[in-house]
Amino acid sequence: MPRRTKIIATIGPASDDEKTLRGMIDAGMDIARIGLAHETLELALDRYHRIRKVAEESGKPIGILADLPGPKVRAGRMPSEGLHLTDGMVVSLTPGRSDSTPEVIQVDYDELLTDIHDGDLLTFGDGAVQAQCLGRKGDLLEVRIIHGGLVKGRPGIHIPSDRLRIPTPTPEDFRLADAFVDAGVDMLALSFVRSAHDVRRIGTEPYPRGPLVVAKIETRAAVENLDSIIEASGAVMVARGDLGSEFPIEELPHLQKEIIRRCITVGRPVITATQMLESMVQAPSPTRAEASDVANAVFDGSSTLMLSGETAIGVDPIHVVGMMSRIAARADEEFDYPGWSQGLAELHLDPTDVVEDSITDAMTSAAHRAANGVGAKAIICLSRSGFTVRSIARFRPQAKILGFSTDPRTVNQLSMSWGTKPYHLEGGLLTEELVPEAIDHAVAEGDVHSGDVVVVLAGSGIHKGRVTDTVRIVRIP
Ligand code: PGA
Ligand code: MN
Repeated sequence: MPRRTKIIATIGPASDDEKTLRGMIDAGMDIARIGLAHETLELALDRYHRIRKVAEESGKPIGILADLPGPKVRAGRMPSEGLHLTDGMVVSLTPGRSDSTPEVIQVDYDELLTDIHDGDLLTFGDGAVQAQCLGRKGDLLEVRIIHGGLVKGRPGIHIPSDRLRIPTPTPEDFRLADAFVDAGVDMLALSFVRSAHDVRRIGTEPYPRGPLVVAKIETRAAVENLDSIIEASGAVMVARGDLGSEFPIEELPHLQKEIIRRCITVGRPVITATQMLESMVQAPSPTRAEASDVANAVFDGSSTLMLSGETAIGVDPIHVVGMMSRIAARADEEFDYPGWSQGLAELHLDPTDVVEDSITDAMTSAAHRAANGVGAKAIICLSRSGFTVRSIARFRPQAKILGFSTDPRTVNQLSMSWGTKPYHLEGGLLTEELVPEAIDHAVAEGDVHSGDVVVVLAGSGIHKGRVTDTVRIVRIP
């Protein structure tokens, strides 16, 4: 069975040459992520155009996700050999943007001295080093290291999000988002959102004209406002790096399951991210725990798995993508398909107020049942915005999902959808008249064969092609 769970790989200095990008696409990268927290906009745009070029040459629809940094607080550059922070040590922090020294660590958050309270926990990097605030001394904040380690470069510092006063998206996020929307990016991720309002503030046009907006769940407030954030977003990321600093670490596996479950209920793709194959930044094979984590993230219902440092700065990005692809594909084989759709049926699906949405819910549920009933080889879905495809994907049908759209942006956005092979159809309005062409296309690609039974979801045109309102069962001639 070909892999059904999708893979995002972060592009960084280790992976942004054409040869490596090509290799990563061949190894199974579905989406390339450009993190905007580290480099200049010029460099990021340059990277974007290079990825587009290589993706076009490959002929595969590769989505591009630009990840806005949000109010990410960082330490000033550490001495070149790094700084060893040992357990029990007391160190001083100060607001500022110059280089850090062993005596004073600079932190680029102006309100550091007033917003951090005694007893607050601060984390350096993705959980590597933890410190507890002891109090203020003049223009310094003293912290005691409770879990020591080596900090290098310009590590992020996690400040409890309810202390942080900077709103998200930040002015810098808006500047970066504008540039990437102009360039035609497929998806935008928002960091440290706290409410649906934060998501709506980004103000891009709705997909597919605008990018699919991915809300990163990595603050306590986002967990509290989860349902409304999911509703306002095109997709969601379980951003385990920062989320694991916001909550006691033993909560993380359960938060992951809960966030995924709620996304699935409403048909939003959900990404499980961070440290999935972390040891492969250096090593040629993953730890046993990492291999299990990747498989379990598939069983939890992740649509998409993400690689961060593994491909951005790791020793062998192509090999890491291949490794994740193998582990995910094997987990896809073992996935409990019948149990999943049963569980979904039992979840309380609130009838939505939006008529179009309730039609889509009913149509996709009917298509899924029809596909099971006739043992369909594929579900062919013609969708303008991709909404119907995302909605059918939540049922985890065993049949292949072939997602067709005339909008090239939708096609790229479908790279995020579980189990979906995106297809581009020439033509303007997406109506039933394009169904025979879609079937021919699928036959030509070898996804379906003469004699196969397929389920076709499309719009009749009664609602001006905007609503998927027909399910048909077709035997391929
Ligand atoms: P980041 O987001 O890598 O941009 O911090 C992901 C996470 O926090 O897990
Ligand atoms: Mn984060």
